Amino acid sequence: MQLSVVIPLLNEQESLTELYDWIAAVMQSNHFSYEIIFIDDGSGDDSWKVIQSLASKDQNVKGLRFLKNFGKSQALHAGFKEAQGDVIITMDADLQDSPEEIPELVRLIEEEGFDIVSGWKKKRYDSIITKNLPSKLFNWAARKTSGVRLHDFNCGLKAFKKEVVKTIEVSGEMHRYIPVLAKNAGYSNIGEKVVVHQARKYGKTKFGADRFLNGFLDLITIWFVTKFGKRPMHLFGALGVLMFLVGFGFALYLGIDKLFLDPTGRLITDRPQFYISLTAMILGTQLFMAGFLGELITRSKKTGHGHYTISETINL
Ligand code: UDP
Ligand code: MG
Repeated sequence: MQLSVVIPLLNEQESLTELYDWIAAVMQSNHFSYEIIFIDDGSGDDSWKVIQSLASKDQNVKGLRFLKNFGKSQALHAGFKEAQGDVIITMDADLQDSPEEIPELVRLIEEEGFDIVSGWKKKRYDSIITKNLPSKLFNWAARKTSGVRLHDFNCGLKAFKKEVVKTIEVSGEMHRYIPVLAKNAGYSNIGEKVVVHQARKYGKTKFGADRFLNGFLDLITIWFVTKFGKRPMHLFGALGVLMFLVGFGFALYLGIDKLFLDPTGRLITDRPQFYISLTAMILGTQLFMAGFLGELITRSKKTGHGHYTISETINL
């Protein structure tokens, strides 16, 4: 199979038939062998019924339904697991992404050898205040911390080599950072294509204003995990030792002062150095312990799927 189109959706009953017709038309005119995988992320409307009726008419339509709303990341992950195509396309279900872009995305993966090609909604049809400006800031921060030079991380329309989606694990709300996850797994050939974007035709956006706070928190997590996830001791241990030494230095000074230089002077507990020393030593020990526990956890974690990427094997 050449192509899998993976579509996560939540309450998009009005869009689905139109979306399906459009995708099917593009697929047929390009003679792709394909599947469309709809992942119903716990919709409360008739989305699943629509998917069922589409699937009963067309063998290429596959559906997967979550018991409740788990989120777009989980939906994508489930779709990636099922996908059989050599190229995987993700797109939103709300008709904001155009299926006409698919052939060119596929060509970029197959012929230009990209691991990922991400859509770039250069001209957006969303509200300026709640979407466009915050998303500029967000994309800038994501570029700076990850080193992945994309303009539009959160674009729903993306194309992947099969092995990329089989390797990465999209959890939490990490769907915004799939290219970063891929880069961390070793797939660094990441391209970008300007795509047309349309205003939402039916329904409304499923992500509120909290998307930006959550987005930034996820960004910090991903930055941290990328940098120190495999070696927590290098951060916490170093800080801890540093803190402890500062505290110990003050304690040493106080001790020498009290014993040899000024035995009859002020009480140690009357001196600010004492409190600095105390806090620094306690914090230092705590940080060191955090690093140590982090090491134990990373070491005991099963190195299974997703923690590393194999590039080649022999006789397996
Ligand atoms: N979506 C989903 N689960 C969720 C929220 C959204 O599967 O919990 C789907 C949604 O139906 C749509 C896509 O993710 O197909 C993008 O969502 P939306 O259009 O609301 O986001 P926006 O375009 O506003 O960023
Ligand atoms: Mg949308």
